[in-house]
Amino acid sequence: MKRTHNCGELRKEDIGKTVSLAGWVDRRRDLGGVIFVDLRDKFGKTQVVFNPERNAEVHKIADKIRNEYVIYITGEVQARPEGMENDKLATGAVDVKVDKLEILNEAQTSPIEINNAKEESKENDDFRLQYRYLDLRRPWIQKNLLLKSRFLKAVYDFFYANGFENIETPVLCKSTPEGARDYLVPSRVNPGKFYALPQSPQQYKQLLMIAGFDRYFQIAKCFRDEDLRADRQPEFTQIDVEMSFVNQDEVMDMFDQFVTDVLGKVWNFEPPRHIRRMKWHEAMLKYGSDKPDLRFDLEIHDVSEIAIQSNFGVFKNAVAAGGKVRGLAAKGCVDFTRKQIDDLTAYVAKYGAKGLVWMRVKENDTVETQVGKFFTTEQLNALRDAIEAKEGDMMFFIAGPEKVAATAMGQLRLEVARIKGLRDPKKREFVWITEFPMFEYSETEGRYMAMHHPFTNPLPEHLQMMLDGNLKDCNAEAYDLVLNGVEIGGGSIRIHDPKVQEKVFRLLGLSEEQVRDKFGFFVDAFKFGAPPHGGLAFGLDRVVATMEGQESIRDFIAFPKNTSASSPMDQCPSEVDVAQLNDLHVSINMLDNQKKA
Ligand code: ASP
Repeated sequence: MKRTHNCGELRKEDIGKTVSLAGWVDRRRDLGGVIFVDLRDKFGKTQVVFNPERNAEVHKIADKIRNEYVIYITGEVQARPEGMENDKLATGAVDVKVDKLEILNEAQTSPIEINNAKEESKENDDFRLQYRYLDLRRPWIQKNLLLKSRFLKAVYDFFYANGFENIETPVLCKSTPEGARDYLVPSRVNPGKFYALPQSPQQYKQLLMIAGFDRYFQIAKCFRDEDLRADRQPEFTQIDVEMSFVNQDEVMDMFDQFVTDVLGKVWNFEPPRHIRRMKWHEAMLKYGSDKPDLRFDLEIHDVSEIAIQSNFGVFKNAVAAGGKVRGLAAKGCVDFTRKQIDDLTAYVAKYGAKGLVWMRVKENDTVETQVGKFFTTEQLNALRDAIEAKEGDMMFFIAGPEKVAATAMGQLRLEVARIKGLRDPKKREFVWITEFPMFEYSETEGRYMAMHHPFTNPLPEHLQMMLDGNLKDCNAEAYDLVLNGVEIGGGSIRIHDPKVQEKVFRLLGLSEEQVRDKFGFFVDAFKFGAPPHGGLAFGLDRVVATMEGQESIRDFIAFPKNTSASSPMDQCPSEVDVAQLNDLHVSINMLDNQKKA
């Protein structure tokens, strides 16, 4: 069954050749006794023609074939009659007159419309996942996975060319606190003990630096038992990296190069050779987000100083209570209707904003507002100038605790951009966000947590502040790479001084015993000569999806889980035999299951 060509290959130059093709029947039409079949494989589609006048026998067999039959044909390439060419198809200038046909396999009617375009594919997600092997036949999904495969090749090439070693780390690990929830695996030979699946190979890659491997990378499977969203999966793949003897600028420089050499090549564009770097505080102030979408301006401004001088209670009280007032000039939005403003008010309420103050900038830059009586004309003009509003703009303000005012305004900025169509899907704006806070206070836990992870180094100039116990103002040598408002990667310079590491654990509320029990091996390793080191990880699927302008990573993973972390195709997770549980020394604490047992 030798194929001479694939189904995406034949061109005008092949006219007159005898060829053999194999593939799936994408579509079959019977036009006045002549049968036309679009034959499909990974490479494309070719039209093949069964004419009873050319070969009555073959035509008779062809009459039986249906969509998704697997067939093998041999025939002669001919030019399509004038006017019948299909410009949308790479092979659209020709078709094949069939002389021989073999049905390799029949197919039931597919529950999934394989040749539908993405927009026409309306089946619900679980149904698609149930028949994923058919869903995966769709050319637009195949395209995603083939692209990811090409991307991975470029990733490997980059790392090998730059002196990185590809080293595997365990999938059965020790469960450690301070991360997301672990997936646990019970040990049969160690009753009552559990492995954890890695949330990332963080500690192993640091140990590889201590071992002296200098530069490491791995395409690593990671597992996190978190609530799921479109861009989250319980298992996902990271491009995981660690480097010795580097500072944060050197890590970012290396990945500026990565963006040029890998993303630039695979997606055929020219990224900036040096990606801009912005401190976390600036990002939060100007864009209300630590992953700002910089495809458009719409900068946010702090107007607390002006606001507190007014008689407007909403502003005054917020600032008096230690909060902030943030403002934004929505360019060309002066004519937003009451309904639009109400919708925006409801929208920012989801992010904690108690209200949305709005003012219109009319002719000659005059500010018009329903709350005008609480401000002098000078104050209104000062607000307008502070946020750089001009005639034709709508001014928006949000007052509240700094975090709320910042993030709610950041969301408003995105929403205004969406309404005004400012998020150009063709643009690619990269930015490094640097100097993240080292710690973040968790209301639910009632304590400080590591914002990145507990192995992250504080900024050297903030070390003393941290040792003195000022956690609020301590920033870290941590950085994220953001593309079009999506965090595609992130990492940090690590602590390599065991005393500093011990101190950070202590500040995070771990007792000496807990540190010994959970991280003892790790802390010990640093006592035997640890080089300064740092690294980062990219979300593989997220990079590819974002580069393709897609939000969901699911269409870039061959066999993803649904939003309940299960797989409708093979019904995983599933119950297991009591005998298996007994082997694992596990009993299920659910009434239903106990009854069954
Ligand atoms: N392990 C980190 C993460 O998964 C990345 C890093 O710091 O290298 O987010």
